[in-house]
Amino acid sequence: MDLRLDDQQKALRDAVRDFTAREVIPNAAAWDEAERFPAEMMPRLGELGLMGMVAPEEYGGTGLDYVTIAVLLEELARGDASLALTVESHNSLCVAHLRFFGDESQKRRWLPGLASGKALGAWCLTEAGSGSDAADLRTRAERVDGGWRLNGAKMFITQGSVASVYVVMASTDRSKGSRGITAFVVPRGTPGLSAGRHIKKMGMRSTDTTEVVLEDVIVPDENRLGEVDHGFADTLRILDRGRIAISGLAVGIARAALEEAVKYAGQRVAFGHPIGDFQAIQWMLADAATEIDAARLLTWRAAWLHDTGQPFQAEASMAKLYSGQVAVKAADMAIQVLGGYGYTRDFPVERYLRDARLCEIGEGTNEVQRMLIARHLLATR
Ligand SMILES: Cc1cc2nc3c(=O)[nH]c(=O)nc-3n(C[C@H](O)[C@H](O)[C@H](O)COP(=O)(O)OP(=O)(O)OC[C@H]3O[C@@H](n4cnc5c(N)ncnc54)[C@H](O)[C@@H]3O)c2cc1C
Repeated sequence: MDLRLDDQQKALRDAVRDFTAREVIPNAAAWDEAERFPAEMMPRLGELGLMGMVAPEEYGGTGLDYVTIAVLLEELARGDASLALTVESHNSLCVAHLRFFGDESQKRRWLPGLASGKALGAWCLTEAGSGSDAADLRTRAERVDGGWRLNGAKMFITQGSVASVYVVMASTDRSKGSRGITAFVVPRGTPGLSAGRHIKKMGMRSTDTTEVVLEDVIVPDENRLGEVDHGFADTLRILDRGRIAISGLAVGIARAALEEAVKYAGQRVAFGHPIGDFQAIQWMLADAATEIDAARLLTWRAAWLHDTGQPFQAEASMAKLYSGQVAVKAADMAIQVLGGYGYTRDFPVERYLRDARLCEIGEGTNEVQRMLIARHLLATR
């Protein structure tokens, strides 16, 4: 694997870095404080090509490889992890499901709007009673004349109240368990589809997270995404790729935390010295820098394996497990380096810690990643 980014990757990274410095970092704390979803940023993200990263160019996307996607999400998350999670979930869950499992007419119908950022995507798998054990979902889809009737409720859905396109996983044959689940596209405005409660969160507070309710929602068979009863198998493939993207996001939070800690260590004076002169502080910074590099390398390895058509699932789980932990640890370290100020909302490091914690839970908890890694080890004994 060549660890050097090519000229196009560098140009995209620099464009996102500039955009983040100008338009994201100055606003991130206010969006978090107000728990406000910054809808006005979506067309800007679309112009930058960030809303169609997973969509091929013929459908209006930028069709990026996963190494580049990880690099760009790191840049965006360095400024605001919430905004990066919006971009990540839109791309790696909703857009990816359409791209990898949609038929030609579905791709033509839905991808251009999603890639432009004019339409936002939500991906609805989790329910109040089923998260890690996602196949135990209760939302059901029954055949009706010409289509399907969906009933159920989804939980923790990112873009739950602001999306235009909802990909919904529903049970089509409960007796078959995970082999009886099918995915459907439900456009906003379909009678019976509504956003439920807005969920108040510890971090990622400017993402839009809600319940999604489906009451006698009727969709035509042309809105079925993938084969009947094959939705869960497709979902696992979507989550495999999503882990690479969320790892990039976690690395971005960790990097932001380290940069803040380094800056502060050079400025804060105690006992007549900048605190960066003290070995105790230096070691914290050095450990974090080493761990962040390791997390990025794991992320890029998983992305490179994916992009070169090799098995990448266990490596994606390793990247997600490790980079989520590194993000939490780096943010916690930064709070320590900033002392009392780190604990205040005058500095961003407390937000980094709240945001980073999601990386250990969303799109498969740390325990689920360990389960997947161990399964791989035991299967290849
Ligand atoms: C901010 C946010 C955004 C999200 N966005 C989306 C979204 O857009 N779409 C969507 O579908 N979902 C979304 N989710 C849901 C998320 O994927 C789930 O919360 C996550 O998968 C965990 O499921 P759970 O919350 O039901 O926890 P549970 O599955 O109930 O887990 C509780 C605890 O038990 C542990 N556990 C469970 N099973 C095992 C096991 N077999 N072995 C060991 N430990 C185990 C877990 O690791 C965890 O520690 C989001 C969640 C959050 C918080």
